[in-house]
Amino acid sequence: MRVIEKIDEMKQLRQQLTEAVGFVPTMGYFHDGHLALVKRARAENRWVIVSIFVNPTQFGPQEDFNAYPRDPQRDLALLEKEKANIVFMPLADEMYPAGFNSWVEVKKVTERLEGASRPGHLTGVTTVVAKLFNIVQPTRAYFGQKDAQQVIVVKKMVADLNMNLEIVTVPTVREPDGLAMSSRNTYLNPQQRQAATVLYKSLNLAQQLWSQGEKDAQKIRQEMTQLIQKQPLATIDYVSIADADTLDELDTVRPPALVSLAVRIGSTRLIDNIVLQ
Ligand code: AMP
Repeated sequence: MRVIEKIDEMKQLRQQLTEAVGFVPTMGYFHDGHLALVKRARAENRWVIVSIFVNPTQFGPQEDFNAYPRDPQRDLALLEKEKANIVFMPLADEMYPAGFNSWVEVKKVTERLEGASRPGHLTGVTTVVAKLFNIVQPTRAYFGQKDAQQVIVVKKMVADLNMNLEIVTVPTVREPDGLAMSSRNTYLNPQQRQAATVLYKSLNLAQQLWSQGEKDAQKIRQEMTQLIQKQPLATIDYVSIADADTLDELDTVRPPALVSLAVRIGSTRLIDNIVLQ
């Protein structure tokens, strides 16, 4: 496994790879969710490239960029085990040198959900992902369903800008009690960790109501909201039932509908989602 920090070196090495390249962009601090993406890339491509880059432009000024957990040595050991071929770990100064002034912005689908709650976040994501795609030139890139809006936005960018790769979505990996794996779960103390199960419980409630024939989206949002409000450590940012393509909020549930939510447990903001089929 090669570890590369310099953009030019990554580009040069890429030129030598003739067969399929699977690419997994990450911010590191791996859990089994990240590793599911790497395993899928490993199964489908001759070469697997993983990037580890805590991207400053996708964090708001009041967000946790500095506190974001990092453990590159552990990450590299895990990638070695998964038989990744190349790890690309650029420095922020090289990705964003002085005078950097170009942004990739997807409109419309970025106006809601995470885009509404975290101004600039998704533009930071599309900009870094476009840069990484240009450097790595993958055949396929792997993203987690955990960040559902991110996948929708990246797919739209790839289609609109005629980028020459396939985007593969990998199902959300969960803890045994249903909590979606996330690097940010490490911020939770034991009491908060227990409270955080309310996200998945509320998604299950939505699934159950839908399976029983409930089609009134507002009714389902209300039931979810009431369940979360019973948890004293939880503060709702949003509870959404939206068209899975446009992210327009629905009055009547039409499958596939994306049920997604953002909830603060203490000061830790967690997101999760399911798709009603
Ligand atoms: P991050 O390091 O948080 O930027 O995540 C890197 C990639 O891993 C993104 O495509 C995420 O959607 C994906 N990911 C994060 N958590 C999970 C999870 N629990 N299950 C599946 N994919 C995940």
